[in-house]
Amino acid sequence: MAVKGTGPYNPENIFAKILRGDIPCKKVFENEWVLAFQDIAPKAAVHVLIIPKKPYVSFIDFTKSASEDEISGVMKAAGKIASDLGVDETGYRVITNAGENSGQEVPHFHLHLLGGQPLPPFPV
Ligand code: 5GP
Repeated sequence: MAVKGTGPYNPENIFAKILRGDIPCKKVFENEWVLAFQDIAPKAAVHVLIIPKKPYVSFIDFTKSASEDEISGVMKAAGKIASDLGVDETGYRVITNAGENSGQEVPHFHLHLLGGQPLPPFPV
């Protein structure tokens, strides 16, 4: 179900449960800022979700509320994950959905990293 890309943050969303360890995930990377894991329904050979550890509903919420250090930490982690997965050789896509018009399903800000194969023309 599509969600609003604005607060309040719902701590019962599925990514909050993954962060708490209440439900499992296939972890790809973790540091002080982010957790990254395989999408449960991958849309490409590489489909990793990169989420901040702190509670933000959407991209705008994140950019408004997170510290400079956290914004930098999340973006640098996303770049490192993409690089470590080798997709910079062949190409990749990073997207985020926010709010009803985008079809955002999970109201915890996340980046989708897609690659590992030719991707359909944007939007995917
Ligand atoms: P959104 O539409 O919010 O941008 O993307 C949410 C993504 O989360 C979807 O690609 C969906 O497949 C993925 N997803 C939903 N529930 C789970 C889950 O329980 N575990 C994992 N790993 N991914 C999930």
